[in-house]
Amino acid sequence: MKHLALLCAVLSSFVGFAQRLPELARPVNYKLTFAPDFEKNIFAGTETISIRVLKPTSEIVLNAAQIDFLSSSITSAGVTQAAKVTPDKDTQMVTLAVEKRLSAGRATIQVHFNGLLNDELRGFYLGKDEQGRKYAVTQFEATDARRAFPSFDEPAYKATFDITVIADKKHVAISNAKVLSDEPGPTKDKHTVKFTTSAKMSSYLVAIAVGEFEAVEGEADGIPIRIWGTPGKKQLDGFALDSAKFFMHYFNQYFGIKYPFEKLDLIGLPDFAAGAMENTGLITFREALLLIDDKHASIALKRAVADIVSHEMAHMWFGDLVTMQWWDDIWLNEGFATWMSPKPVAAWKPEWHVELQTLRDTVTSLGVDSLENTRPIQQAAETPAQIQELFDGIAYGKTAAVLRMLEAYIGPESFRAGVKQYLKQHAYGNATATDFWTTLAKVSGKPVNRVMPTFVQQAGMPFVAVRSECKQGTTEVSVRQRRYLFDRERFNREQSKELWQVPVCLKGSAAGKTCRLLTEKEALFNLPGCGNWTLANAGAEGFYRSGYEAENVHAIASDLEKGLTPAERIMLLGDVWASVQVGRQPVTDYLALAEGLEDETSRPVMSEMLSQVEYIEHYLISSQDQPRYAAWVRHLLTPSIRRLGYEPKPGESEEDKQLRSRVLQVAGGTGQDPEVLAWARRWSDRALASDGPLDNTIADTAFSLAARDGDIAFYDRLLEKQKQVKTPEDFYVYLGALNSFTDPKLIERNLNRALSPEVRSQDAVGVISDIMDLSAGGALAWNFVKSHWDEVAKISGGFGGAELVNAASTFCTAEQGEQVREFFTDHKVPSAERGLQQSLERIHNCADLRSQQGPRLAQWLNDHEVRVGQ
Ligand SMILES: [Zn+2]
Repeated sequence: MKHLALLCAVLSSFVGFAQRLPELARPVNYKLTFAPDFEKNIFAGTETISIRVLKPTSEIVLNAAQIDFLSSSITSAGVTQAAKVTPDKDTQMVTLAVEKRLSAGRATIQVHFNGLLNDELRGFYLGKDEQGRKYAVTQFEATDARRAFPSFDEPAYKATFDITVIADKKHVAISNAKVLSDEPGPTKDKHTVKFTTSAKMSSYLVAIAVGEFEAVEGEADGIPIRIWGTPGKKQLDGFALDSAKFFMHYFNQYFGIKYPFEKLDLIGLPDFAAGAMENTGLITFREALLLIDDKHASIALKRAVADIVSHEMAHMWFGDLVTMQWWDDIWLNEGFATWMSPKPVAAWKPEWHVELQTLRDTVTSLGVDSLENTRPIQQAAETPAQIQELFDGIAYGKTAAVLRMLEAYIGPESFRAGVKQYLKQHAYGNATATDFWTTLAKVSGKPVNRVMPTFVQQAGMPFVAVRSECKQGTTEVSVRQRRYLFDRERFNREQSKELWQVPVCLKGSAAGKTCRLLTEKEALFNLPGCGNWTLANAGAEGFYRSGYEAENVHAIASDLEKGLTPAERIMLLGDVWASVQVGRQPVTDYLALAEGLEDETSRPVMSEMLSQVEYIEHYLISSQDQPRYAAWVRHLLTPSIRRLGYEPKPGESEEDKQLRSRVLQVAGGTGQDPEVLAWARRWSDRALASDGPLDNTIADTAFSLAARDGDIAFYDRLLEKQKQVKTPEDFYVYLGALNSFTDPKLIERNLNRALSPEVRSQDAVGVISDIMDLSAGGALAWNFVKSHWDEVAKISGGFGGAELVNAASTFCTAEQGEQVREFFTDHKVPSAERGLQQSLERIHNCADLRSQQGPRLAQWLNDHEVRVGQ
């Protein structure tokens, strides 16, 4: 699964195993028939589960939720007995009891039931397209297959599935497997679609979609691929189809195991809570992340679509073919898919430099993992809420970064050979973390089984501090490791007990890269020759923070463009910021580093720096210093604006096009550049007056800048345009613009609109979070959340509440922190217990940073003003 946005070990360990099925039987095959009724918004189901009874028993326990059992029986040794059904709502289980004990061996369970086509975006749920046409679709991960059929709904209970759908005549039905037959009946207005027996798989990967869908078709390596959407969107399918074809071939080659599921369908859905879901052979997507207008889509969205298609397709091997034994190893699914996804995209579109984008994700993961309330990659979880909370920045970003480090440590070919062997060994089955690193250690001959547990079972990441000295023509580098924490007091007070086995690569200004495994708290490295500086994460492949002496950083800063690769520059920016956070370096060192990037042309490097420049304005600058900081930002961005201009140039790279948009956004927003703001208004007026398609790479920037001091007339024009959009992307461009107004009346109006039928429930929380993130909107949005809690908490089957807990991390004073704590203590969100602690910690760290670095910043701006003016 892939979420749109990403986010204590003690927590889960006492919950016990009450929520796991008892080991009484294992499923072998399910025969399932679903008959959705779109008039009553329910579905009728019949089910036969072939099972293997493990020991003599008079009861079988299954998972079920919101299921109405009409009849149930169990057949064993030729005898069929009616089963007494006892549901337990709290554990989402149901016990089927028979009078005569079942002996061990084969048996079948027969059930007739009714279920709800709900509006919660989980289980078997109801969606609608823009014309109001209903469709029904499933979303089961992690624990919602049980809302569609009684099942052994745990990942290790793999089975095959024979699915049949009785659909309205006008509807098509799609599922994991190919269509076996499609016949009219059983009544005049219906048809019955039978699918072939699926591959052996976990219940959370079963999928069905029923509705008026249309597709375009293609194939790669003999595998049929179709891209589906609701009617009238076929012209938006081409980009996804091209990417899926390319990736299919790439993955077949890379894994050396041919795509294991006969056919691949990808479907874009107007109502969908996550980003996408990797059901075997039928991947479901949020429509805007699959169906795009190739010619006018923003480059960022094209990259996002390619990335998510690649991520979900990688899951066909990592997750679907081989599945984690239990949810505590969800990283074996999500981390692998996240690590893998840039590879085929980079091969398809090398000009996008996705490897650098990936590195920015690593820097973000280092941020999450710098919190005391982070978690180890491998994390116990028992209840559905705890399992849901595991789909966070650690499972995705951190794991991907650790795998990238491991790949660099043992070499890409050795890594690939290990992965291939691991997949072959566990195909159509389940695996654990130990299975993975044992195989990799064996194949590579390196101590992967010692390195990985230190990163997987231990929370946080190492801070690798270097100090160099020139001794007789050789640089002697003392390297020390300890745990890094954003919390300044704790970081500076405590010696950490953690020890990592870290593959460390150093490079000096006088010599190339030297790599070694750091196994102790402290070690000496030698680099040939003596130079001005030493870089502690050469190649930027290590998942660790680096700490430098002040002189070392200053020397690197003056050699940034020649001495460091773009990847190393991105990592260094993150490292210096981490040292600023804990008071090891003044914030002004970061600003000096930013000034050293004046002529930077790499978009990801610039974007990394600009995010921090915005953060400083948002949180650290006092209102009286704002104008001086804005002047500094304008000065900083002048060379880039001069190089890029305001209008696209013929033949320019997509990277430059996107960089222009980002630079103008910061120049107009943080820099308050009157020229840029005037341009944004002109551009917006022109776009709103035209009926032509938007250039979405720039539209976002222009509209949101124009909206900052936009009036009600401008708001209404955007709203009107939003109602006439032709692509899902255009809809979100207008949605983003509407969220950018700073007039309190318009903010209120927009907040109320979020909960009206005009905004789909999947988008409502995003609107509120966006507004909460604005200086002008934070307090208004927070009050709105508090007064509408009952409505917002329920959104997307409970995802909504968790997202808002994360969104509250945007505050930066102790008083706001207290308010957040109080509110969420009274209004608990079970799937965001860790999320709440993280948000509170972020607020505390932000307030601390402001108090320690604010005065230095003010002084620096004071001294600096003269120079900017010159
Ligand atoms: Zn995923």
